[in-house]
Amino acid sequence: MPSLIVRAINSVGRLIEFCLTGQTDYALTTSDFCLADTIDNSVQAKLAMKELLPYLQQKFGIVLQAPIIINLEKPRTRSWKRVVFSAGEHIGSYTSRWLGENLSHEILLAPGMERRKFKAVLAHELTHAFQAERRLLRTHKGLKEGMARWVEYHVLNEVGLKREADKLCRYRSFILGRGIITILNYEREHGRTATLKWLKDLA
Ligand SMILES: [Zn+2]
Repeated sequence: MPSLIVRAINSVGRLIEFCLTGQTDYALTTSDFCLADTIDNSVQAKLAMKELLPYLQQKFGIVLQAPIIINLEKPRTRSWKRVVFSAGEHIGSYTSRWLGENLSHEILLAPGMERRKFKAVLAHELTHAFQAERRLLRTHKGLKEGMARWVEYHVLNEVGLKREADKLCRYRSFILGRGIITILNYEREHGRTATLKWLKDLA
């Protein structure tokens, strides 16, 4: 629900309460009203991830074991690598953190992203986390990035951001830009299950 309407309802609620009791501390606390339009704190980020994880499991067999740390800050590095490997926008990044034998996932996401877009970028980074846990596509850098964009593409379509999804297919990074197209073509021909199997079987 748009925050303006929620604010209006709250204002009316406060007014009614003020008229009845002379006090005003009324606020709607139903979970729907707690969902922000943009994600700029860790509570909202965790709520978005909670909604996303069952979807990723059901649609892509992506299940994560290691702890996931989401930090809402702009990805730091602006190296040539980041330029080559990211899809043009520097709004998300993924890093594996090893403490001895124990892996944890660190995801940086730019604060203030629109909720639906946030979910799509988070899905991209969680796909990289899954690749790290399963040691997937280590010798196929183009398909590794392509798989993350492919998942992001489907989430963007799922949440109604079709234009953003199409844009994702048009980035022409000379090494990695074509991975998503290769995977989408494979999926069109063989279906989702076969595509996932193919990607998971590649070393
Ligand atoms: Zn990526």
